[in-house]
Amino acid sequence: MIHHHDILIIGGGLTGLRAALRISDAGLNGAVVSKVHPLRSHSVAAQGGMNASLGNVKGEDGATDSWESHAYDTIKGSDYLADQDVVERMCREAPTAVIELEHMGTVWSRLENGKIAQRPFGGAGFPRTCYAADRTGHNALHTLYEQVVSREIPVYEEFFAISLITEGGRCIGCTALEIMTGQVHGFLAKAVLMATGGFGRIFDKSTNALINTGDGQALALRAGALLKDMEFVQFHPTTLYGTNILISEGARGEGGILLNKNGERFMERYAPHSVDLAPRDVVARAIEQEIAGGRGYEGGYVHLDLRHLGAERITERLPGIRQIAMDFAGVDPIENPVPVQPGQHYSMGGIDADINGATKVPGLYAAGECSCLSVHGANRLGGNSLVETVVFGRLVAEKIVEDVENAPTPDDKLVKAAINSVNDRIEGILRREGGEHFFTVRDAMTHTMTSKFGIFREKQTMQEGLDEIKSKQDQVSRVSLQNKEREVNQALIRFLELEGMLLLAEAVARGALAREESRGSHTRTDYPERDDRNFLKHTLVGFRNETMYVSYQPATLGIFEPKERVY
Ligand SMILES: Cc1cc2nc3c(=O)[nH]c(=O)nc-3n(C[C@H](O)[C@H](O)[C@H](O)COP(=O)(O)OP(=O)(O)OC[C@H]3O[C@@H](n4cnc5c(N)ncnc54)[C@H](O)[C@@H]3O)c2cc1C
Repeated sequence: MIHHHDILIIGGGLTGLRAALRISDAGLNGAVVSKVHPLRSHSVAAQGGMNASLGNVKGEDGATDSWESHAYDTIKGSDYLADQDVVERMCREAPTAVIELEHMGTVWSRLENGKIAQRPFGGAGFPRTCYAADRTGHNALHTLYEQVVSREIPVYEEFFAISLITEGGRCIGCTALEIMTGQVHGFLAKAVLMATGGFGRIFDKSTNALINTGDGQALALRAGALLKDMEFVQFHPTTLYGTNILISEGARGEGGILLNKNGERFMERYAPHSVDLAPRDVVARAIEQEIAGGRGYEGGYVHLDLRHLGAERITERLPGIRQIAMDFAGVDPIENPVPVQPGQHYSMGGIDADINGATKVPGLYAAGECSCLSVHGANRLGGNSLVETVVFGRLVAEKIVEDVENAPTPDDKLVKAAINSVNDRIEGILRREGGEHFFTVRDAMTHTMTSKFGIFREKQTMQEGLDEIKSKQDQVSRVSLQNKEREVNQALIRFLELEGMLLLAEAVARGALAREESRGSHTRTDYPERDDRNFLKHTLVGFRNETMYVSYQPATLGIFEPKERVY
């Protein structure tokens, strides 16, 4: 079946839905394709909040927050790699984005005076993070979805995008597998927006949903786009020991503290000023060092202590966190400290796109976690991703609306060929017998990524890791599936995801090996210093003749001069 729309959005998270609303405002026919029901997108799991310099809560010395302060904190947090023009745009637009969500129906937590509440977050100079208790993403995503439903915007849910279709180098749509029936559909549009989220699941010990496999990044790479700064992977300091479910930074924002086995508040040694609210890269490294130094608990964790906040505050501000700790670790934070360890959390890198979300491939745009515009540089500040999704979901859609006015209408011929070729590929996969089980390959890959491209990295282990990834890529082409059906074949979906994940794993590995410095989340024990002379630049990874290559592009500087980062 072939579907025609003016603009196609792949991804039904906050980014995709915000974009869909903007396209509908323009009176254009936009549609959303999503591999899960939109309300199951990872955005729904966001806990702690969304940054905007509303200035509803004063800073330490009575000062009021401003977009400039937000920009400064973001750029410093990024270890000066973020593009300063893009950061400025996001920080200027952030307050509007929060108010806009409020007007659509998001129920923000409130201050006594009725204004939207704001809590302190890591690396921020002011209490800047707006929140809906510790269920911010849930609240915001439901708000946008209600709007999408009420406007009757078409959503193709449980459709898995398999390939992008290009005509003379221009992206004109995609093919997608309808999971329920196993049928391959073709989608044609004047432009395609990629809003497919992060690739956290190439690592084990991740806070991400199982669907965060980076499909969009792999699709874009294969279609000729570049990936940017893939080596910058965020490890969140506080994930629940045992399952690695996220324990929001909001817990420390509310006053929670980290303690080692000896009961020491060890962050005082690593970040004397910000202490527990230093940025995530700093805190994650500190915890790893405590554990490595024998000051963690058996099994590799430390404690997050919330007890002093009291039952009332915990139940009002952190109800979800309390429930998670009780359900998955048998610990009630009102009575006992929560065992936590660092885990993969966010992908700073992604599809290379300019300030308007345009990629190198005409007709193909990207926004949200799958993209790298870049606002987070080498390390994202907590609360900045949610704001990025809605700000750039809207702004990139605005640009697409402008651009498609003169775009050619694609013709059906190519889409038929694309559907046939995808069907051949699927049949080929289903016919195969023997080989390794694909979950064995996937587990080996996630293990390699966590053990060889984790918080601390160095050349030799990374080289071994890259060799392992290359051998997994080879293995995966021989993997066979036991389930040979076309209908509801989840194994087939997982397999198609795995092919892309191995490409992204290689991109992370190549970027990390080539970057011989330590910056933000990328810490090399063999190159412990930041090297602005050689590496104040973005890594770009491309794919030509089935081979990956690395190149660079300068970071866009601005009013904030790179300085040493101290907290
Ligand atoms: C547990 C957790 C808590 C977080 N808390 C916060 C927070 O408090 N504050 C903050 O700023 N950030 C937070 N983040 C980060 C933030 O939530 C995400 O970066 C953001 O929500 C991503 O939104 P998105 O729209 O880009 O992608 P997602 O919400 O991940 O949506 C991706 C969409 O793409 C679709 N998709 C993917 N592949 C395909 C395919 N092949 N075919 C069709 N569709 C596809 C999916 O179905 C989905 O609809 C958190 C992240 C996690 C994991």
